Amino acid sequence: MILLQIELDFYRITMIGTALGFILGLIPLVLGLIKKERKYAMFGFLGSLIGGALLGIFLSIPVTAIFTWLILRKPQSENLSTAETSTKICPQCHTQYGNDVTFCLQDGTVLQDSNFVSSISDEVEEETIVLPANAVAPTQASFDKSEKS
Ligand SMILES: [Zn+2]
Repeated sequence: MILLQIELDFYRITMIGTALGFILGLIPLVLGLIKKERKYAMFGFLGSLIGGALLGIFLSIPVTAIFTWLILRKPQSENLSTAETSTKICPQCHTQYGNDVTFCLQDGTVLQDSNFVSSISDEVEEETIVLPANAVAPTQASFDKSEKS
């Protein structure tokens, strides 16, 4: 009678642990499929499921947390690094190139990081374009007129 009850409890705990491991395992599974990390998704799901069956939520929760962290962490760092280095811009003609190009194919200027160039060229362009149009051109014309007359 006692043995039977222990056995039933064991199965019940195993069933609950497996069910919780299954539910928790869905988190890394879905996240992994969204983030295209199939390996982490499968290992996270199976790890949580098996861990839940063996030791209940004491194992499935850490497993789920670890794999969820791995899935969320890895693609973000990859995206950031590719976004920073994937494009280069020529400071002369502002043509965009891939990261593997070192010199501009139009004028041979050394290419610079797109983020770095865009922040600098915005400041430079505003000053260099506005100044000649307003100041230099009219004064030169007036100088020419005053010299002739
Ligand atoms: Zn160029």
